[in-house]
Amino acid sequence: MKPVHTPHLTDLPADPDVVVVGAGSAGIAAARALLAAGLSVAVLEARDRIGGRAVTTAFRGHPVDLGAHWLHAGPINPLVKLGLARGEKLRHAPTGGHTFVRGRQAPPAARAALDRAFDLADRAMTLGAQRPEDRSAQSVLTPIGPHAQRVIAIHGLVSGRPLDEVSLHDFPSSEYAHNWFITGGLGAYLARLAEGLPIRLGTAVDGIDWSGPGVRVSTASGTLQARAVLVTAPMAVLQAGAIRFSPGLPPGLQEAVQAFTQGVYEHVILHWPGSPFRGPDRLTQLSGTRLEPPGLLTNIDGAPFHFLELDLERARALDGRDPHAPARFARAVMAGQFGYRAIRDLQVLAATAWRNDPWSRASWAVIPPGKAPAREALKTPAGERVWFAGEALSREQWGTAGGAWEEGTRAAGEMVARLRKIPGTPLDL
Ligand SMILES: Cc1cc2nc3c(=O)[nH]c(=O)nc-3n(C[C@H](O)[C@H](O)[C@H](O)COP(=O)(O)OP(=O)(O)OC[C@H]3O[C@@H](n4cnc5c(N)ncnc54)[C@H](O)[C@@H]3O)c2cc1C
Repeated sequence: MKPVHTPHLTDLPADPDVVVVGAGSAGIAAARALLAAGLSVAVLEARDRIGGRAVTTAFRGHPVDLGAHWLHAGPINPLVKLGLARGEKLRHAPTGGHTFVRGRQAPPAARAALDRAFDLADRAMTLGAQRPEDRSAQSVLTPIGPHAQRVIAIHGLVSGRPLDEVSLHDFPSSEYAHNWFITGGLGAYLARLAEGLPIRLGTAVDGIDWSGPGVRVSTASGTLQARAVLVTAPMAVLQAGAIRFSPGLPPGLQEAVQAFTQGVYEHVILHWPGSPFRGPDRLTQLSGTRLEPPGLLTNIDGAPFHFLELDLERARALDGRDPHAPARFARAVMAGQFGYRAIRDLQVLAATAWRNDPWSRASWAVIPPGKAPAREALKTPAGERVWFAGEALSREQWGTAGGAWEEGTRAAGEMVARLRKIPGTPLDL
């Protein structure tokens, strides 16, 4: 998989103030902010590319996102604000979508009924979250009527876990309205934002020693000494023990890291010029057949590419099977809905498996019932020199590239303020 844009990277300083672990959205944001404040920075990235869970690759010459694609929550998403300021080609995501029932477009009233069910669900979850005791987000949804199962399935898809495993206290904090798309892909946009940064690729951090006054960050190719470190590796990667902390993290931080479960959401990428879907960038519901995918984004960027979205259950069902299983599943879904004649020119180009990638192990980090304080707990650094950032820490934009950017910027600001207090800091104030 070759990204469509590969930024020019610069060499690492020999003696950095800060080491940033990971060059995804959070790491790129942090590196930019730390450099802008006059600190010297070294970013170490395990993969041989930047972007983490946001990467754009080309299929048939067209850029397609394998990870993050939507710019969610426009009014509060820093990547939208920055993109508009840079003159990037942003466009509003359409609000209306299609609903097909056994191959036929459902009347607008059917779509409106589902929209009403979503409104009721939002209200029920917002009210439920105000109660002091936490429960599952699903526990308040059964009374919302005949569309409850559909709403639960779709919210489960965008949460990354079945809703009965998602904290009610955490859920309404996420903000998904007023979405945008960016021409050329979100991964390519992040790669442009990494232009000129001091990032070394193919360099996995395996240990962080903070027993001394600063930190020693070890990799298979050597150790870097710095005054502080910012860890942006995904929670699932930290839970798997990829980085050894010496001494171990304080109990509050350890508990917070362990609190998350793995959100699973994958794309099966379709090329289907003869599809019945009309209009660019439309969310499309398929129902009335045995195989009902929880989500589908059609005619991405106005081109004949479509994402069949997989939730945890469907993605897991494909694990351990042959490599063609996602393609067979996608074809069976579309044939069940539109018939075999209609899918003659349907090609399945790829299926993502972020859940099995050792540097992500999940699509994002999810908070189960009772663990909602974990996002906030991760914001207290260990010994004022081991900071954390990434999508998992964002209260309002968790699970998103915008949330990761927000958190990388926050952590960088706190690090600058902290390091400036230490006498002898070579900072350009
Ligand atoms: C299929 C899919 C679709 C998605 N869709 C959307 C969407 O439409 N919109 C949206 O906003 N978000 C979406 N997301 C979520 C979004 O991609 C993430 O929330 C965001 O990119 C996370 O950024 P991050 O910087 O926190 O982590 P990452 O992007 O994972 O960056 C962390 C970096 O750390 C590196 N790393 C890990 N361990 C080490 C180590 N030991 N040493 C050195 N480096 C290490 C990793 O390689 C990675 O580059 C999607 C995710 C997936 C998987």
